[in-house]
Amino acid sequence: MRSVMTTWNSGSKFVGGIQVSAQDNRLYKAFVLPNQLQVLLVSDPSTEKSAAALAVQVGHQSDPHNLPGLAHFCEHMLFLGTQKYPEETSYKTYLSAHGGRSNASTSAIATNYYFDVATPHLFGALDRFAQFFIAPLFTESATEREMHAIDAENAKNLMDDSRRMYQLMKSLANPAHPFHKFGTGNLDTLGVRPKALGIDVRAELLAFHKKHYSANAMKLVIYGKDDLNILEDWAIQLFSPIENKDVNPYLSGNAHPYETQQQGRYINVLPVKDLRTLELSFPLPSMQSLYLEKPNRVLSHLLGHEGSGSLCAHLKALGVATGVSAGLTRDYRDWSQFSVKISLTPKGLLEVPNVLNACFQYLHILNQTDAATMQKYFDEARKINSFQFQYQNKQAPINFVSYLTRNLQLYPVHHVASGPYIFKNYVDANLRQVLAQLTPDRLRL
Ligand SMILES: [Zn+2]
Repeated sequence: MRSVMTTWNSGSKFVGGIQVSAQDNRLYKAFVLPNQLQVLLVSDPSTEKSAAALAVQVGHQSDPHNLPGLAHFCEHMLFLGTQKYPEETSYKTYLSAHGGRSNASTSAIATNYYFDVATPHLFGALDRFAQFFIAPLFTESATEREMHAIDAENAKNLMDDSRRMYQLMKSLANPAHPFHKFGTGNLDTLGVRPKALGIDVRAELLAFHKKHYSANAMKLVIYGKDDLNILEDWAIQLFSPIENKDVNPYLSGNAHPYETQQQGRYINVLPVKDLRTLELSFPLPSMQSLYLEKPNRVLSHLLGHEGSGSLCAHLKALGVATGVSAGLTRDYRDWSQFSVKISLTPKGLLEVPNVLNACFQYLHILNQTDAATMQKYFDEARKINSFQFQYQNKQAPINFVSYLTRNLQLYPVHHVASGPYIFKNYVDANLRQVLAQLTPDRLRL
């Protein structure tokens, strides 16, 4: 145990209060602006590209009931002109003229905006970017046109198996939980239907932005070549004008999207592509507060193991599967979902009951395994993750900033980089509690 802790300690260090890999030579600084916007700066003297990301803790779960897709629509519209830079293409033209690119995404509970740009042009890009959150225009003409872009995006999603599965899981979830909502939106939900109901979608966009885009629900990461003092000045100058409306980032209350009524389901999906996947999903409470103990990750480590004596080896020997993976497939502040995914052979597709039997037998064996042995598996997972953290490849700045803004919503700031990798304490009771919920009656297949 001591040797593993030493690995963690020697493999990591604290820079500006942030735990990073011992190999990381960048400088970090975290602070909160007076408007309560949380900022993290990364200074990398060797970088040619600079980048920034801002996450707003509002997603499609906050869409009004009569306007599915509004949060996503708002994300699209922010790119298309602000009071300071009214031209619709101002931001994108600036970035592409200086070797940059941008993107954004809307999830159930957050909206992420990010870009990169050649280092000398970071300030200009940040200035245009910050205005999204201060004074967007939402012009009439762009509203009409962008609705079609959303519709095209939705049409493309319809051909994508993972998007189809995601929407199916949402549709089958408890309607009392906002996870049930359809988040992408299309011409029907944002155009035809609101029009029939006399809803002014542009006015709703403005209202949505006004209500939810509050500095206290935002996380900003800036990655640049300049020193931390300069980056800090820029963050203060450009992002302090964002209004703080003291919003409460979305929490859904007591309902779980998969209550007893939604458990014990067998769902058969005909995929677009030639896929044979068996997915066993179990609803769980949120795992976010257990990030130092990671009971779910110990189970992923065991269930996804491919060596002799593993579930995978057993299924392969039976000729029914080619691979097994396991882990959290959903992880929110109020609920999570643990899934075991099995790639079936054609024979396996005909023998699903046998595959399931083997899975539950394996879970039974884990249930019987004593705490000391489980602790050994925990230490193993800790060691692997400590090495992965220490020797991870340096990500491109644009990927790194969006990774960090995502993590700022999940972990305390000192663990913003190490949160997904750190394994601190083995708590047997936590692991047992998760295992106790991986039962056939709770299964969604
Ligand atoms: Zn989109």
